[in-house]
Amino acid sequence: MRVLAFGAHPDDLEERCCGTLAKMAKRGDEIFMCVATNGEIGSYNTPREELARIRHGEAQASCDIIGAHLIWLGFEDEMLFDNRETRMAFIEAVRLARPDVIIAPPPYKDYNQDHDACGYLAFEARILATVKLMETEHPVIDHIPPLFYCLPVGNMSHKTDPQYFVDITDTFETKLAMFACHKSQHEEWGGDAFGVDFTTMVRNDDKMYASACGTPGCEAVEAFSLCTDWPIIAGAHKLLP
Ligand SMILES: [Zn+2]
Repeated sequence: MRVLAFGAHPDDLEERCCGTLAKMAKRGDEIFMCVATNGEIGSYNTPREELARIRHGEAQASCDIIGAHLIWLGFEDEMLFDNRETRMAFIEAVRLARPDVIIAPPPYKDYNQDHDACGYLAFEARILATVKLMETEHPVIDHIPPLFYCLPVGNMSHKTDPQYFVDITDTFETKLAMFACHKSQHEEWGGDAFGVDFTTMVRNDDKMYASACGTPGCEAVEAFSLCTDWPIIAGAHKLLP
């Protein structure tokens, strides 16, 4: 199977769904991790251009851990909108990856506009990638893939109800190793800007879902919801590990 996951910022996928991506890679799936923006405002100390370069390297190091392909779109951080340029780039990413399943943030308001835009662009691109007269470098794909939404850390406002729960106990350490690749965010951003430890947040989130599931031996879980706008893909949940 081929899997395409969209994240707005370089470490978003690690926060939300890399335990699942690692599981998919383990079962032999080909994984594409698409990062929409450079993440170049995530520092008090590093100039934007340099930070963009650093974060590109961190994202590549994370992808390398599970052998995923990195698709780096390079749009400006905090300025991701649905417009002609971004739409065509998302369509091209879908055509390049030719995914059987797409994962993206939900297109509903969470705490960051880029996340919403990323979700909405993925939502549009999954259908438009099949439309021949929307011309990009790669050819059209021949089917509309199902789209799963990966939920934001601290999804306590329940704007998106989780429906599917992936036990990532066996890949949790891999997920943390991937997350740790984003050193620039852990060392000089999370604590300084927000007074939080991102790793603890992610760990607690995955444990919270695991305790809600209550399955013996299950210590970490990532939660997803399925996009049920047309076209609904019957049996899509079987694509998740
Ligand atoms: Zn983000």
